[in-house]
Amino acid sequence: MSFDTLGLAEPLVRALSVAGYTEPTSVQAEAIPAAMSGTDLMVSSRTGSGKTASFMLPALMRVLALRESEPKPAPMPRNDGPRGPGFERGPRGPRFVPQGPSVLVLAPTRELALQVAKAASDYGRYIPGLRVATVVGGVPYGAQLRALSGPLDILIATPGRLLDHLGAGKLPLGRVGFFVLDEADRMLDMGFIDDIHAIAEALPQQRQTVMFSATFSGPAGRLAEELLREPRRIEVASHTETHADIEQRLHWADDLRHKNALLDHILTTREVDQALVFTSTQRDAEVLATRLAEMGHQVDALHGGMPQGRRNRVLDQLRNRRLRVLVATDVAARGIDVKTISHVINYGLPMKEEDYVHRIGRTGRAGRTGLAVTLAERRDFGMVQRIQRFTTQRIPAATITGLEPRTPEPAARPKPGFGAKPGPKRFGNGPKPGYGKPFARGAAKPSR
Ligand code: ADP
Ligand code: MG
Repeated sequence: MSFDTLGLAEPLVRALSVAGYTEPTSVQAEAIPAAMSGTDLMVSSRTGSGKTASFMLPALMRVLALRESEPKPAPMPRNDGPRGPGFERGPRGPRFVPQGPSVLVLAPTRELALQVAKAASDYGRYIPGLRVATVVGGVPYGAQLRALSGPLDILIATPGRLLDHLGAGKLPLGRVGFFVLDEADRMLDMGFIDDIHAIAEALPQQRQTVMFSATFSGPAGRLAEELLREPRRIEVASHTETHADIEQRLHWADDLRHKNALLDHILTTREVDQALVFTSTQRDAEVLATRLAEMGHQVDALHGGMPQGRRNRVLDQLRNRRLRVLVATDVAARGIDVKTISHVINYGLPMKEEDYVHRIGRTGRAGRTGLAVTLAERRDFGMVQRIQRFTTQRIPAATITGLEPRTPEPAARPKPGFGAKPGPKRFGNGPKPGYGKPFARGAAKPSR
């Protein structure tokens, strides 16, 4: 299977070969033709499976098609002739110049939105004059408004800031024909439901909507029912599928000191190319980054409480390999796509079991292997159990010589009140409805 057999136009196929993509991923092979046929879609597939291209390529196809049918916008507004917004004086009098984007993508975080925008420019590099704009928080309004005032093809936004512009009447959305909700479940978790509804209200009824979500149960499913028309469901690999390229390990820690010792040991091993260490809170991220810096690590923190400029600089440093360790919170790390992250370390467990899957998906990118290490204290036992139920996979427990836990592994002698019922049914040793392939328990993986 190759990209041109999917029916993509030549400039896009060329851009993909420049990007080094030789063949579509499974979700791309399914979603691209489906999206190009014009149907609404509900798509789930695991992180790192290439979802961005599976909506951005159809989006760019639409932009190309519109280029054929709509008049070319004049590059600069003229002094002598605008007759209200959208009109310019052409050689034969005023003519309509399309205003506002034809494609709108909503994404949960700034990082993710910027990453999607980069994908748009990368895949669209051979579309002359392609106009992509982003509307995200933490950026001055003035600059954003300038980017929005001219003609536009693709707008990528976080819901909150987009709604601000919409409320101010600064944003014509009447031309949007392709509406994408990326990581819809996450946007709902972040409380964007009303914003999404308000934005959808401002869009034309006649449009195509595609929605990406790790799950379509619960609120994401209800949102899909409200926004989509006769959608096709594409589910390539559920979140429960084994992350084949990611080895998972669990270390039980007696206490915080022990946990720090385990972390310090792992970070000094040579196999660590770059490590992403997750904490539960912004404060923990700061404290841990400071401690690791004092130990001589090239390290910084990334969390939602930092100003956007600094967050961008930290991410640049990670990409430029000036950082070997990044200590981050869930929200801030959401969009990170750095292929050289060899280790994800859960220093503080996530609040929600889904986040575990998103976290470990930051490694094992683009065909590389990765190691996801969870450092858990006994009080984390309930969450470890919930994660294992959610993924229907057991995270194999491991020890480091000289740093073995003094207390036995809690799973070995479950107590009432420890969060989960003991018994053989614990780790989904059988297919559950909608849960994809069961995990081959105890499947041996070669160590790296
Ligand atoms: P998702 O949104 O599903 O988590 P992304 O769209 O962010 O995944 O893609 C993950 C990584 O895989 C990115 O680095 C992207 O450039 C790369 N990628 C996507 N599609 C392909 C492909 N067909 N061939 C090779 N690499 C790809
Ligand atoms: Mg994505």
